[in-house]
Amino acid sequence: MDFSWTEEQEIWRRTVRDFAQKKIKPRVREIDTNKKIPVEIIKDMGKLGLLAPTASQDYGGAGVDWTMASIAAEELGRADISLAIPVLYLVEAAWGFIFSRYGTDKIKKEYLNKVTSGEAFCGIAVTEPEGGSDILGAAKTKAEKKGKNWILNGEKIYISGISESSNWGGVHLTLARTDPSKGHKGFSFFAVPLKDMKKIETTLFEDMGRMGISTGGFTMNNVELPDYNLIGDLNRGFYYAMEGFSAARVLIGATCVGASEAALELGIEHIKNRKAFGRPLGSYEGIQFPLAEHHCNIDAVKLQVYRAAWVMDRMYKDKKANHNDVALAAAIAKLRAPIYAFGVMNEVADWLGALGYTKEFPVEMGIRGVRSYSIGAEGTMNIMRIIIGRELLGKEFLPYK
Ligand SMILES: Cc1cc2nc3c(=O)[nH]c(=O)nc-3n(C[C@H](O)[C@H](O)[C@H](O)COP(=O)(O)OP(=O)(O)OC[C@H]3O[C@@H](n4cnc5c(N)ncnc54)[C@H](O)[C@@H]3O)c2cc1C
Repeated sequence: MDFSWTEEQEIWRRTVRDFAQKKIKPRVREIDTNKKIPVEIIKDMGKLGLLAPTASQDYGGAGVDWTMASIAAEELGRADISLAIPVLYLVEAAWGFIFSRYGTDKIKKEYLNKVTSGEAFCGIAVTEPEGGSDILGAAKTKAEKKGKNWILNGEKIYISGISESSNWGGVHLTLARTDPSKGHKGFSFFAVPLKDMKKIETTLFEDMGRMGISTGGFTMNNVELPDYNLIGDLNRGFYYAMEGFSAARVLIGATCVGASEAALELGIEHIKNRKAFGRPLGSYEGIQFPLAEHHCNIDAVKLQVYRAAWVMDRMYKDKKANHNDVALAAAIAKLRAPIYAFGVMNEVADWLGALGYTKEFPVEMGIRGVRSYSIGAEGTMNIMRIIIGRELLGKEFLPYK
């Protein structure tokens, strides 16, 4: 057991922190207000290897492992408490990895190089109007083979990065039924471009938080895609989706650690300086005790997140863990991270008094942003509990079978 970082990990953390603190942190309020991540930040992220960093170097990725990817996620969360840039980062890191691992060379040449340089977006489209948790029951989107091409029909909703994909270009890895008789073994994944696609209509939602990245949906009406847009093997899409979700959940946890630490640091600065009844707020037990609790919660989540990243590295690099190990470790991290992060941010807002309720102080962006993770992005909290229950009790205890 060794809790220290390697030299390479420390250099990577310093590099990402330096960039994020200088170039991102001063612009977070602007990003939240303008509902847009400035293009120069995206381009700089591309140059640093922060866009789909887990993608193969053959396609411009940095080919980093999951511990390194989590370190960057933590640093981006620390700099952008609104969590918009961290969301863009983690979606592309998780799904860019799946794209890089399973996509055909032809589709990757067309899009992945552009994703890693910041000229295109790579997202995920699983959720449908009738439900996201029970996608097996809810999924209506179908892909049918016609000659050499695929015809896709259906609707995806609550999807991150719709404006980004429609404006910059890029693909959403989209789950569709290719053999409806086979349940979860009858889904496939397709790379669906949204920009200038005549038979695709997009919609947008006004979100509560993480305003710098859009959420919306798209309807496909006889969209024709070449065979090379199929990701990986036919009828393996559900498995690829689960693989990507685990990765995204670990990175969500890492962004929460960074954002929580940033919020707590702001709170500590305030309670050291603000006086009430003749003494600094921080000298009262009523303030110190929650401070200690939140510090311990962040520390616990940090250990869970980096253990999950380590389990992923053991699976992908050493083949000493399997997808179930990863799913369990990722679900544990995702179940705790957004709840604890919300708790810290909410507490810090209290310490601030009225200032905590204003837009003069950044923590309100964090409160709005982190709820996206606990409400549903990359799986709801009850879905995390179902995964943990499944791993503890066995598949025969799945409540929805
Ligand atoms: C900000 C944001 C961004 C998102 N981005 C994407 C994206 O990029 N791509 C994508 O595909 N999806 C995305 N989603 C959708 C997300 O994956 C879904 O919201 C999530 O899977 C839940 O689906 P749902 O919203 O339909 O809620 P439902 O599935 O209807 O669930 C509603 C509630 O019921 C609970 N519930 C459901 N089943 C059970 C059960 N068996 N036992 C106990 N409780 C249960 C859930 O936990 C939840 O609290 C995003 C969501 C948000 C909020």
